[in-house]
Amino acid sequence: MSRVYNFSAGPSCLPEEVLKECAAEMLDYNGTGQSVMEMSHRSKAYKPIIEHAESQVRALMRVPQNYKVLFLQGGGSTQFAMVAQNLGIHTGKAAYINTGVWAKKAVSEAKHLGVQVEVVASSEDKNFSYIPHVQNIAGDYDYAYICFNNTIMGTHYEYIPETGSIPLVADISSCVLSEELDVSKFGLLFAGAQKNLAPAGVTLVIIREDLLTDSPRAGTPTMSTYKIHAENESMYNTPPCYTIYVLGKVLDWIEKNGGVAGIHERNVQKAALLYDYLDASDYYHATAQVGSRSLMNVPFLTKETDPEKAKAINDKFVKEAAGAGLVNLAGHRLVGGMRASIYNAMPIEGVKALIAFMEQFAKQNA
Ligand SMILES: *Cc1c(COP(=O)(O)O)cnc(C)c1O
Repeated sequence: MSRVYNFSAGPSCLPEEVLKECAAEMLDYNGTGQSVMEMSHRSKAYKPIIEHAESQVRALMRVPQNYKVLFLQGGGSTQFAMVAQNLGIHTGKAAYINTGVWAKKAVSEAKHLGVQVEVVASSEDKNFSYIPHVQNIAGDYDYAYICFNNTIMGTHYEYIPETGSIPLVADISSCVLSEELDVSKFGLLFAGAQKNLAPAGVTLVIIREDLLTDSPRAGTPTMSTYKIHAENESMYNTPPCYTIYVLGKVLDWIEKNGGVAGIHERNVQKAALLYDYLDASDYYHATAQVGSRSLMNVPFLTKETDPEKAKAINDKFVKEAAGAGLVNLAGHRLVGGMRASIYNAMPIEGVKALIAFMEQFAKQNA
């Protein structure tokens, strides 16, 4: 069996040990004679699985006692609506920082639901290649919203805006558990699983208890009400049982690898190898500006500026890389070029193999 290095932006690679454990337990989980896929979510066998996942999230992220940890469905995209529906309820106004595709989608969903959105800063002027610096957000906003790591643009906040008593909401879909984060600075954090946590299907939500309301915006479905999920311990309806089980194993793997601090150190090393190579290269360059660079998603271009020739060279790169066992390196159409997503589960050997390939490709094509 040969495995590739998978640089996909999501769904993305998972730790090999986790996959092996899942395989070993596939037909008979813990002497139950069943697969976790087949278990009732209300069974004695399943209960400890979801409780373990929650307690590992709490321990690894140091989640304060006054926050609920929820396992929901509908991906990050459903959170764009739920945040607006559950938090945009007093003045009906919210502040958003526009840092690209995922932030824009959150803005348009909030507007669609009747929230009065003020975009207080944007990096659209430079194709979202940087994070605007907004030290303070003040005003009669129900909440302030940021996308902490911009998967497509490869940018990441190196600071947390001060919002005083305004709850700060952050989309951490593509950077959750990649670095230490002070949960107490946020009112709500959410992350779809398929980048850094588990296979697609579960969305992690961490919400401060005072933001759980019985009166979300008019017309909000029961299933979109955080309080309902909190009161039912993420079992108001059938949760994505198997995905939560895999999540628990990924969290154990993080714990074994030095916790979030250990994983962060590894991520810094991996990203530094790649950015240092890009910055020193006269053939490639990174598109994200220094001071705003993601540890997780690294878009880069070649020096070819003619659009047609650039497309041909990018296609060649992606094809030849795949031939060398380095897959899913195509860039997003909004940035062009290539993108290497190097999430927690990407080993440093994968990054070294990519750089060796890039070096050889540059020699042959420069
Ligand atoms: C992938 C992604 C999303 C969307 O997640 P879905 O689970 O596909 O809805 C939202 N925000 C960010 C930052 C992402 O990377």
